[in-house]
Amino acid sequence: MINIYQPSLGKEELNAIEQVFKSNWLGKGKLVEKFTKNIADKLNVERDHVETISSCTAGLFQSMKILGIGPGDEVIIPSIHFIGAINAIKACGAKPVFCDVEKRTLNTASAYIFEKITQKTKAVIILHYGGVPCDLDGIIRLCKQRDIKLIEDNANSPLSTYQGQNTGTFGDVGVWSFDSMKQIVMGEGGLIYCKDKKHIKDSQQESYYGLLSKSGFSNTIDNKWWEFDVDRPGTKTIITDVQAAMGIEQLKKIDKFIRRRRYIHDTYSSEFKNIEWLKTPPTMSKDKTSSYYMYHIQTKYRDELAKYLRENEIYTTFRYYPLHWVDFHKSKENLDNTEYIANNTLCIPIHQGLTDRDINYIIKKVKDFK
Ligand SMILES: *Cc1c(COP(=O)(O)O)cnc(C)c1O
Repeated sequence: MINIYQPSLGKEELNAIEQVFKSNWLGKGKLVEKFTKNIADKLNVERDHVETISSCTAGLFQSMKILGIGPGDEVIIPSIHFIGAINAIKACGAKPVFCDVEKRTLNTASAYIFEKITQKTKAVIILHYGGVPCDLDGIIRLCKQRDIKLIEDNANSPLSTYQGQNTGTFGDVGVWSFDSMKQIVMGEGGLIYCKDKKHIKDSQQESYYGLLSKSGFSNTIDNKWWEFDVDRPGTKTIITDVQAAMGIEQLKKIDKFIRRRRYIHDTYSSEFKNIEWLKTPPTMSKDKTSSYYMYHIQTKYRDELAKYLRENEIYTTFRYYPLHWVDFHKSKENLDNTEYIANNTLCIPIHQGLTDRDINYIIKKVKDFK
């Protein structure tokens, strides 16, 4: 079966992990710091604007705390979004308010957010679908005008750019994922960016029991290093040197991964452009670059096509099943594009693990379908 997502890990990662074993320090240490510096450089931000975290989901939960969102507040979220994002809103006692997205890009836009703003709106959690940046200009302007916090779920778009700046660094908070299905893989792991450096301090404390100072070895200040203080009931959502060892190696390879993904994207788009029963994703505007997380096609034969491809050993999926259709979060909504998308969209494999033979096979099977 050709997978829809797949990690690309090799001897470099394995060797790096072996070194961690030899170092006798498995926890959060020097390698996590090195990974953090390296990714900050890659994203063109100062190190003290970012911090690693156990998952993107943990980052989304933290973003609510850091921005002071809670009961009585509303947070706007496109219904086409990851389940962890809405869970974060509900868990802090705020109310999710669903908005629509564009029919072809699956990204939300300022007009859809605007419709849903009330006196209670505190934040919006956007998603750069499949790696393609949203039209951020309009969204940022609206958020400024209405004093709404902007949270970017950057899990699909780790190195995407908009007008030359990395996505995830435009809003008040941005969150990345390095779970085993993403472009950069460390098993589990994530990153949080905060516009306000003080919020990174909050994140560090939230992720480590609420401690005010470093503990154990790392504490070089206090005479009695077993003493400590906290100023909040923090939890523990850090990553380890084992994960960072993998991440450091993955960062060296990521540009190559993304180039390969772009090649596959462009090949699909040119091969599929004359198929009358199928729509390819729209061409991106020149001020954007993508991390090519997903390739989505749209057709009224979506369900049959998915079944046909699966029978031919090609696994496909649809991301993201509308949140307002999930029983626990169910809500009666009029989201026309979301409904169209949910019934007509299919994501096909685009990862760097695909061989040329796989790509040709996928193209052939899609063309043969009708
Ligand atoms: C993968 C993903 C997440 C969750 O990331 P974890 O690190 O697994 O918590 C969140 N949002 C989007 C859009 C994702 O694709």
